[in-house]
Amino acid sequence: MNQRPQKFTAVKGMADVMPPESRLWQKVEAAARGVFGCYGYSEIRTPIAEPTELFRRGVGENTAIVEKEMYTFEDRGGESLTLRPEGTASVVRAYIESGAFLSEPLARYYYMGPMFRRERPQKGRQRQFFQIGCELLGVDSPIADAEVMAMISQFLSESGAADVTLEINSLGCPDCRPSFNAALLAFLKKSESKLCADCVRRLERNPMRVLDCKNEACAELTKGAPSLPDYWCETCRAHYDEVKRALAAMGVAYVENYRIVRGLDYYMRTAFEFTTTKLGSQNAVAAGGRYDGLVKSLGGTDVPGVGCALGVERLVLLIEQNKEPLPAEDLIFFVVMGDRARFEVLPVIQTLRRDGVRVEWDFAIHSLKSQMRRASKLNAETVVIVGDDEIAKGVASVKDMRSGEQHEVRIKDLPQHFVQVDI
Ligand SMILES: [Zn+2]
Ligand SMILES: [Zn+2]
Repeated sequence: MNQRPQKFTAVKGMADVMPPESRLWQKVEAAARGVFGCYGYSEIRTPIAEPTELFRRGVGENTAIVEKEMYTFEDRGGESLTLRPEGTASVVRAYIESGAFLSEPLARYYYMGPMFRRERPQKGRQRQFFQIGCELLGVDSPIADAEVMAMISQFLSESGAADVTLEINSLGCPDCRPSFNAALLAFLKKSESKLCADCVRRLERNPMRVLDCKNEACAELTKGAPSLPDYWCETCRAHYDEVKRALAAMGVAYVENYRIVRGLDYYMRTAFEFTTTKLGSQNAVAAGGRYDGLVKSLGGTDVPGVGCALGVERLVLLIEQNKEPLPAEDLIFFVVMGDRARFEVLPVIQTLRRDGVRVEWDFAIHSLKSQMRRASKLNAETVVIVGDDEIAKGVASVKDMRSGEQHEVRIKDLPQHFVQVDI
């Protein structure tokens, strides 16, 4: 009996990004590198696995991430490692470990890469998901918060994401938040029995999180809840006003939403989200805020920080919904017939590729018709046809696929022809 070998599929919640969609990802990544670079950010690359304790402390014991979503395992040496569930803790660890926080506290980093959370997979939300994020460390100025928002706003628009709204809030600080939390808790206790199970759990640890529960009954119940601004201390209020002033000065539109809260423990004062109504209930495209206590809690000095992160899967869904066309292909496709033509064009193709021109062909293994079909499927800008007739004359037919216009070029002049017209 001839048994077929087992077929493999990707791990649940860990998806392949196949062409042509991967081109959209490259476009997003290129926009991030370009825009972040304009704001003085440098790329930082941290390992995918970290000591588990880093995330326990950096993300927070009582968060859903640490409690039930991390990929934690013991390595062969018996150390507990975790696949990073987010980027900030690792960046701050590297910032401290490298000594950067002592020599040059003001640092602007951006990162991009896969993160891992074992959640229920759904559209735009994978267990291995790709995040792009930025961290601005060493400044407590509210202008820094606004600058991060301005940068993300520019990045989103250059990526092709339309219909995105910036929503801002302040979560207060360790001085004023406790009194808000106490008031909120007292309010919620009155109708505890009507809250969803998740919110009942949130009550004692982080009552603020009830405010952004997606459950309709919870949203209805919290309508008359205490409002954050009523509890801000003077410092928090002044910080918030300065953020708004800086956003206005930079021409960045925003709306205020006092219900934006954070699942991560280390956020304080500024919290913001870029939201869209185009992705159903998962309305946040990017989220960020200020985390002044984090560097110290991970073993550094008292260095403030502000950052933002976004999931590329969701961003790509949004861009696709906006029907933003894929980047145009500056591609030359060689349609070649016969063995002689094959070897006539081979040096030409090689020269063009060495000159940085994108060239495709199918090694002349298929019919003329199917090669032409492949060329248009690949969205080639130009098709070069070399068949028996052309070989006899020593020329190639060069066809512009947009205009349909066709003319002849001597085969040996092809490299010069394409490099001159600056493809
Ligand atoms: Zn405060
Ligand atoms: Zn709820």
